[in-house]
Amino acid sequence: MQNDDKIYISYNQVHKLTKETVERYRINENYKPDLMIAIGGGGFIPARILRTFLKRQNNKNIPIQAIGLSLYEDLTDSSLNPEIIGSQVIKTQWLHFGPSYADTCPLLGKNILIVDEVDDTRTTLAYAVQELLKDIEEEKRKFIEVNAAGTPVPETKLAVFVLHNKKKEKRMELPDPSIVNEGRYFAAEETPDRWLVYPWEAIDIDEHTTKSSLQENPKKE
Ligand code: 5GP
Repeated sequence: MQNDDKIYISYNQVHKLTKETVERYRINENYKPDLMIAIGGGGFIPARILRTFLKRQNNKNIPIQAIGLSLYEDLTDSSLNPEIIGSQVIKTQWLHFGPSYADTCPLLGKNILIVDEVDDTRTTLAYAVQELLKDIEEEKRKFIEVNAAGTPVPETKLAVFVLHNKKKEKRMELPDPSIVNEGRYFAAEETPDRWLVYPWEAIDIDEHTTKSSLQENPKKE
């Protein structure tokens, strides 16, 4: 018997959930991502699995950019507000496009899927969206500068994919409300407000997988 309150997630569950979510939301048909931005470290493996199920664009795999965001651990104050969001999360790594993108606006006109493993208080996702919106604004400014007046600025659409969305009151809202309002918030599963243990965190993967399988099929116990 497991006497802890944690939920153990296996690699197979992550893989199947990801596939099923791409199909359920018809992500390939309705959203067609051009680029994924994986929030590290929890978003890295889900982003790679997602790529297996997302349709290639222009016969190329969907590129994955990695960003690193850390939430200050002692932030338990529920009065946190969006104006000071930047002081709760630190960027440990940000977008980095190779030399072939030097004179381009790599975010402009793209459908960008932000990937993380779990939406808990929503602080991390809100910060990621806020910072991306700033970069997109900067690209828009450059675009307007170098193009003839009146040239339409290509539209960028952000979306979010998480394996788990914890059902709880969120500390932050996403600064781009169209993500939720226009159905581009893709959560594979909604979960109660309990601690989720992912397989990539396991010290003993066999024990972890057994715990996960017992939770899925309690009769085996
Ligand atoms: P936030 O509160 O900003 O939505 O979540 C911040 C980060 O805390 C997540 O990206 C994730 O790394 C971590 N986190 C929150 N809840 C859980 C959980 O239940 N399990 C694990 N493994 N990490 C979590």
